[in-house]
Amino acid sequence: MSTAHPMVEKAARAWCKRHAEACGLDEATLWAEREAGFITEAQAALEACGAMELLDLARRFASECGDCAGTRVLPDDEPCGECTFIWDVIALTEVRS
Ligand SMILES: [Zn+2]
Repeated sequence: MSTAHPMVEKAARAWCKRHAEACGLDEATLWAEREAGFITEAQAALEACGAMELLDLARRFASECGDCAGTRVLPDDEPCGECTFIWDVIALTEVRS
């Protein structure tokens, strides 16, 4: 099992899937053989476009939300409308598929 960030692993798996389709190979077999390579390439691609930094920035801004102070819940127990969508996007990058 890799220790890469879930976002990196998702990107690597998507790349593996495309590669498997393009080459007519079995996705699971290709992943088993080339996992480390796909992870390395995905990591490099995400670092090149600042994806990890963007994720850190998004988390920092959402944590400092002026409406809920990062709790995601307003004083009246309603979900915070200012940052909930940001947390939803962050969750996309962190939940393993
Ligand atoms: Zn908020």
